[in-house]
Amino acid sequence: MANRRNFLHTSFFSGLGLFLYNKRFPAQPFSAAPQGQPVVISTWDAGLQANKAAWEILSNAGEAIDAVEKGVMVTEASQNCCVGLGANPDRDGFVTLDASIMDHRFNCGSVAFLERIKHPVSVARRVMEKTPHVMLVGEGAQQFAIAEGFTLEEPVLSPAAQKAYENWLKKSTYKSPLINVENKNGHGPFAPAKLEDGEWNHDTIGMVAMDARGNLSGSCTTSGAGFKMRGRVGDSPIIGAGLYVDNEVGACTATGQGEDVIRVAGSHAVIEKMRLGMDPEGACKSIIERIVKIKGEKVKDIQVAFLALDRRGRVGAFSIHPGFSYALRKEGVEALVKAPSWFL
Ligand code: ASP
Repeated sequence: MANRRNFLHTSFFSGLGLFLYNKRFPAQPFSAAPQGQPVVISTWDAGLQANKAAWEILSNAGEAIDAVEKGVMVTEASQNCCVGLGANPDRDGFVTLDASIMDHRFNCGSVAFLERIKHPVSVARRVMEKTPHVMLVGEGAQQFAIAEGFTLEEPVLSPAAQKAYENWLKKSTYKSPLINVENKNGHGPFAPAKLEDGEWNHDTIGMVAMDARGNLSGSCTTSGAGFKMRGRVGDSPIIGAGLYVDNEVGACTATGQGEDVIRVAGSHAVIEKMRLGMDPEGACKSIIERIVKIKGEKVKDIQVAFLALDRRGRVGAFSIHPGFSYALRKEGVEALVKAPSWFL
């Protein structure tokens, strides 16, 4: 009994010591991660350009959190159908953006239903660093962004989004749009577009990275499902759904039908599988199988993909349908990798 009391006493005070230590030295990771070769992975082919910006930071001994922010900012600034202000609008004609970011110490921030701000991921980072909160939405998120010095952009659709929206309005299908599904024309990252405008609807960028210190971080940014209901928020800004990082285990991000990622707390679920010993691909596959089981027949109409990195620097991905690819960058490697899928 005396020993047990001593043990409790010691662990209480050493625990307190650790807490104080971490408070005083916030740059320390919670647990020593292995010193590693940096690596960055991100979703879809747009990830190739985003990874370049992230790699600039990682290859110069920079931090993963800076790499994942700067990386996805490239996609946010590009004229992409589904990320940033150039993206497809909701069905009322407004572009609304969702984004999240998370570092190696469980610090996280996100914004949702944010309008007229070019870099939602950077606003998410400010939420993480400058507020006691994790998530800000809509008008409040926009007010915070303006107070932080972000510019309010003109609410105009990009020419491509305008065309896609006009095309969508002809049918105005009042249902959840198809996301990421390789359609009859064989469109996908490996089969160039032959689609009608507005028909192709993917490209959230999710990025996870490990820096030279072995620390992990992740980011995720999107305009969500094109022609969605006004106010709809997907998985991308939901910590644990579209993004999760646990420095002792790994980092994971998701793309595809956000509703079906949220229902299984997708990225967090993948991390928990890795914690139990699965490698990143096996962990992604097992949560895809969970979604397949839940959805039954309906799974043929949706795409979901997970992309994960473990603390040893191993990467892996898995999707429901073929056509999901991810961009990989590490020393001596710059590649677009086709992920395995549940349907062959
Ligand atoms: N996951 C995103 C959402 O549901 C969309 C996507 O990845 O394409 O908002």
